[in-house]
Amino acid sequence: MQYFISHYNKESELKFPDDLIIYDTTLRDGEQTPGVCFSFDEKLEIARKLDQFKIHQIEAGFPIVSEKEKETVKAIASEGLNADIIALTRTKPGDIDVALDCDVDGIITFVGTSDIHLDHKMHITRQDAINLCETAVDYAKDHGLYVAFSAEDATRTDIDFLKRIYSKAEECGADRVHIADTTGAITPEGIKYLVSELVKDLKVMLALHCHNDFGLAVINSITGVLAGARGISTTVNGLGERAGNASLEELVMALKILYGKDYGFKTKYIKELSDIVSKASGLEVPYNKPVVGNNVFRHESGIHVDAVIEEPLCYEPYVPELVGQKRQLVLGKHSGCRAVRAKLNECELDVTDDELIEIVRQVKKSREEGKYINDQVFKEIVKKTKK
Ligand code: MN
Repeated sequence: MQYFISHYNKESELKFPDDLIIYDTTLRDGEQTPGVCFSFDEKLEIARKLDQFKIHQIEAGFPIVSEKEKETVKAIASEGLNADIIALTRTKPGDIDVALDCDVDGIITFVGTSDIHLDHKMHITRQDAINLCETAVDYAKDHGLYVAFSAEDATRTDIDFLKRIYSKAEECGADRVHIADTTGAITPEGIKYLVSELVKDLKVMLALHCHNDFGLAVINSITGVLAGARGISTTVNGLGERAGNASLEELVMALKILYGKDYGFKTKYIKELSDIVSKASGLEVPYNKPVVGNNVFRHESGIHVDAVIEEPLCYEPYVPELVGQKRQLVLGKHSGCRAVRAKLNECELDVTDDELIEIVRQVKKSREEGKYINDQVFKEIVKKTKK
């Protein structure tokens, strides 16, 4: 058995689309994390690994930002990856021209739509925003691009105005419209209401870009999809502005394991992907980060370890191999004979039962004295005990 979840999950009652698209924005929103700047090689490496993972679309960057960014997006677009490569643009034809120079498959063109963004950032009227949307979508469609129109701060935008601007995008031939929860300020119930209202009027595919300011980005994405959205944006390790975006690994594993919806992603590459992004971003993954954290398949407590040695699913919802992780048994103050015996076997050391009891005692003592029991410390304890 590879996983074991609650039988109270009623996946059969839920309606997930078969054609869900995940567009990963590690290389764009992820790179907008304060202090993060990927090199050309790092971006290419991440894009290749995402492609191996079988991601549907890669938002490769924001090409108008710099010459280097443009060059990188162009290089990713010409890699011959299976994933579609898309770039971010403002609603300016000049931005779209630069994206066209990169030979991307498509663009996400965005404009702020909430009153607070219109008044304090753009200094334009709602009608101006609709005009910008029309110009950009028309222009990009005329140039043969796949076009997603994104309403920035959509979750704090008046719903009638949202419907108007999305309808305009649809009318101009947009392939998709995005709800950006730019400040992570909506609840699952809120997104359910918003998506349900929008899909009543729109035929165009709806997608979600959720931020994680309250730790709800993944569940907001899932709830939105169950309400009728068909696209989700993610980042590896949940990277992104402020508290980041919906984490790719958490979302994909929740869909696959908890909801029984396997979209064919090569989840065995998840750990590798996480490591590459962690290294390139310079941001260490927290030990307790779901799916990819170092502690997720690590057990120390004696009672837990005893059980895990016999049946890992006693204390794991799924086995680590599914995400390219490894199970680790850690010795410490909670360790018992069984865990120590397992560690001895792993180190190919043989001891008597009396020695075993003494080794367990010494392991607990060393840990409580502040020593971390790594293999070297453990071997020293064994050596001393056997004398
Ligand atoms: Mn964002």
